[in-house]
Amino acid sequence: IMRESYASENDVGFKCINPDVGPVVIVGGAGKLGTLFSQLFRLSGYEVRILDKQDWPNAEAIFSGAGVVVVSVPIHDTTQVIERLPTLPDDCVLLDLTSIKQAPLAAMLARHPGPVVGLHPMFGPDLASLAKQVVVVCHGREERKYAWLLEQIRIWGARLHEASAAEHDQAMQLVQAMRHFTAFVYGAHLRRERADLDQLLQFSSPIYRLELAMVGRLFAQDARLYGDIIFSQPDTLARARHYLERYQESLKLLERGDKAEFEAQFDEIAQWFGDFAQQFQSESGNMLLSANDNRCE
Ligand code: NAD
Repeated sequence: IMRESYASENDVGFKCINPDVGPVVIVGGAGKLGTLFSQLFRLSGYEVRILDKQDWPNAEAIFSGAGVVVVSVPIHDTTQVIERLPTLPDDCVLLDLTSIKQAPLAAMLARHPGPVVGLHPMFGPDLASLAKQVVVVCHGREERKYAWLLEQIRIWGARLHEASAAEHDQAMQLVQAMRHFTAFVYGAHLRRERADLDQLLQFSSPIYRLELAMVGRLFAQDARLYGDIIFSQPDTLARARHYLERYQESLKLLERGDKAEFEAQFDEIAQWFGDFAQQFQSESGNMLLSANDNRCE
């Protein structure tokens, strides 16, 4: 029911927080995330202009009078594209949607003396609504000049989470780069073991089904995006090595048949998770309930 009411809100559009701002230019606006944001801005009454790869010859006309410039190009190209931007109007808000934040934010601050903010939408483009989704905000410069924009994003339904770019990139190492890399390895394993996915699904209880879905959904998406997320941060290699060490340590328990030690470590980890273990159990329980609801639709 919730989802239907958001969908109908989309049909009539969203409240426009800053009707007097100049056009919103989305660099990479023909891409997946760019398309989603251009729809959101248009549904809120803003004039949206797209500048994609082939449009640079017309850049001057496209950027003229811009009120907001959104950079939404592949991670690997982001810094170069920011450096290539023409001089923007003094009060123009420059922002990016890149999945890493330190390098793009530094590049934007260097390129544009006006208001700058780094955003990372923590979701893919395959969404009907932003309700309950998180957007990470890394403040750059002249926050009061883009406060309206953050309010606009809240009106689209998202929750904002403020963090420094360094904090963000650190956390992303664990929740994104490592998780995607682990999913990649698990996918590779299923393939090499010639897993029969149809059959696995028939044996699967909902929780296992959800886990398979979490891994499998990676491969419905863009190899380059995930390659960039995993390869673009120097820490990933060290962290992946640490993970491999953990795996090897745990493998030794198996080799020794040391179930007692397994249980001892299990308890230590459980203690480390503390109250979160309970919280995660009930949260995933609720997710499974709604996952079952969705399957019946
Ligand atoms: P995409 O490949 O669908 O879109 C990128 C667009 O940029 C394409 O239209 C491409 O033609 C254009 N482009 C490439 N080089 C360009 C250039 N030099 N000048 C102008 N346009 C250029 O990728 P996407 O999935 O939309 O991702 C875009 C950004 O959004 C990335 O930085 C990514 O980290 C971030 N992001 C993506 C997701 C996601 O799930 N897709 C989620 C969060 C953040």
